[in-house]
Amino acid sequence: MCRVGLNLAQECVMQKPCALFVIVFSLVLFSFDLSAQTTATKKALIKPDFVPGYKTMMIDGFTLLVHDKVLDPKNSEMFKVKPLEVLDMELKMISAVLAPKPLALLRNILIWVEWEEQLAMSNGRQGNALAVFYGGTQRQLLREGTQPLKANSVVVLRMKSLTKEHQPEFDTKRCVLLHEMAHAVHFQLIGYENPTVKQTYKLAMERNLYDRTSYAATNEHEYFAEMSCAYLNRIDYFPHTREDLKKHDKAGFALMENLWGKATKPTIAKSKSVTSPIPSSSTFNLEITTEGILLGNQIGGANLTQSSLKGKVVAAILHRAGKDDELAQLLKVQTWHRELADFGLVTFVSGTNSSTEPNLLKDWNTSSLTLPLFAKAAFNFKVSEPFIPPHAILFDYEGNAVYRGDATSIEKALRYLVGQALIEKLGKDSYTKLVQPLVDSLGMGTPPSQVLAKALALVSNPSKEVAEEAKLLVDTLCEGATATLEDANNLVETDPLQAFLHLERIILNYKNTAIANKARAILPKVDKSKKVIIEKQARIKLETIKKLDSVLNGKPGSINPETASFKTANSALLTQLGEALRQIEKAYPNTPATMEAKLLGKRWFNTNAD
Ligand SMILES: [Zn+2]
Repeated sequence: MCRVGLNLAQECVMQKPCALFVIVFSLVLFSFDLSAQTTATKKALIKPDFVPGYKTMMIDGFTLLVHDKVLDPKNSEMFKVKPLEVLDMELKMISAVLAPKPLALLRNILIWVEWEEQLAMSNGRQGNALAVFYGGTQRQLLREGTQPLKANSVVVLRMKSLTKEHQPEFDTKRCVLLHEMAHAVHFQLIGYENPTVKQTYKLAMERNLYDRTSYAATNEHEYFAEMSCAYLNRIDYFPHTREDLKKHDKAGFALMENLWGKATKPTIAKSKSVTSPIPSSSTFNLEITTEGILLGNQIGGANLTQSSLKGKVVAAILHRAGKDDELAQLLKVQTWHRELADFGLVTFVSGTNSSTEPNLLKDWNTSSLTLPLFAKAAFNFKVSEPFIPPHAILFDYEGNAVYRGDATSIEKALRYLVGQALIEKLGKDSYTKLVQPLVDSLGMGTPPSQVLAKALALVSNPSKEVAEEAKLLVDTLCEGATATLEDANNLVETDPLQAFLHLERIILNYKNTAIANKARAILPKVDKSKKVIIEKQARIKLETIKKLDSVLNGKPGSINPETASFKTANSALLTQLGEALRQIEKAYPNTPATMEAKLLGKRWFNTNAD
């Protein structure tokens, strides 16, 4: 019964087409490639802090402002599949069908999620809209009494209904967010006035290709959004899929192919061509260089000086103090940093404007973060530009900013940039048949330690040329570790734990090399220090906690562990985890392993640091 209503209720809300209607981007040409549009999307730039009643969430690389009602466990109790799981499902679907570049572009579109907002359809159809894309200006929205920050955003008006339609018993399998995202692309990139879209729709209607009652027939906007869904996913009426569309509506198919690309993700992954894994930063100014950074007052973490930024790949992370979930995201960044630091990556963290020094310090003291921490580093760009923390700014080895945005999606980009820098250091244009693939894989972002292992195997190759090139590769990859080894040596007396962590990293990353042997030789000097022994013991407990954490993560509803149903269904596991956490804190307070365990625990028990 209600499903009929829901099928009708998916639409875009357009403002009246009058002089006031501003088309932000007027791309008249249609023969364009989504991947080339790096600067064209405009996100409704907002500071999530300033929207009371909503929680900022990152799901699968998308940014969402989720209304408190959606997160209220009482509202979702009746559903098997919870609202956040539904959002996760739809967003994962979008990520799966899109090529990396259009995907990066869509991830810049903000998604608002309301629980039960009623909005009548504005395109002449019956019923209330389920989701909308507001393609107007802030002023227009304000005039209509709508939150002006929703301009250029996708809004799920009735998450309750969307959750309902994705329950296992009657999952429609349609992706409402993809439909709305298609409207966003239509408005922001192609322009609602685009003649090709208008023509293709008109043609299809003249040829009676679509049933007049079908949603695609409503107008050119819905036609465009529905055909995008058919092309990338499926729709629940004919033409259901890309194959159907190709046979049934050739012009519509060509339009979609031209826009979204022929290949979907799996085919692209198979191709050998080197595509940069750096996500697009369409909404941010990238006219920044490392020379424009002024680190200022360092207040915590490993020591870092201004001069060490030169010639390095630099990741600057802007962090807002006092948010546990954001702190946990920084731990991920720290893991990538540890893997890549010796190969040429410099990472540092700076507080955002609203973060005070004591709060930043508290974050560092209650976590296992050791990244260099600065109270407020200065950059030569307008800091008034709004962003969502933790915000990353990545610089290539030449000092140019190449990415700004979500800090949790930089892993591949970091490896790629470090690989590019290493290739530059190697200095040769081409290599022998055996070494060239290693250099290429480095340039594509393969972890340098893996490339090193392969290069070591070629050092004793009978071909003199191959052996020499392999040695050059090994030496270049090992260069950075020399400084770390020196650091470790200097820390043996004053900070044996830190020295141990350095040595451990070298031994792990540089297996079978001279530098790893040197590290191993120093190890006995710190191995027996009390702090190191305690850390090693704490790690054993941490492993147990990590296993429990991963088991819990695999349970249904784990995306929102605060719900009563999740707690009941997993009470034994949660009790076990709670006990393990109490034990590690009691036996090994303040070790890096314990700090990591505590942070893992916060997700399940929602306790504060105090
Ligand atoms: Zn629509």
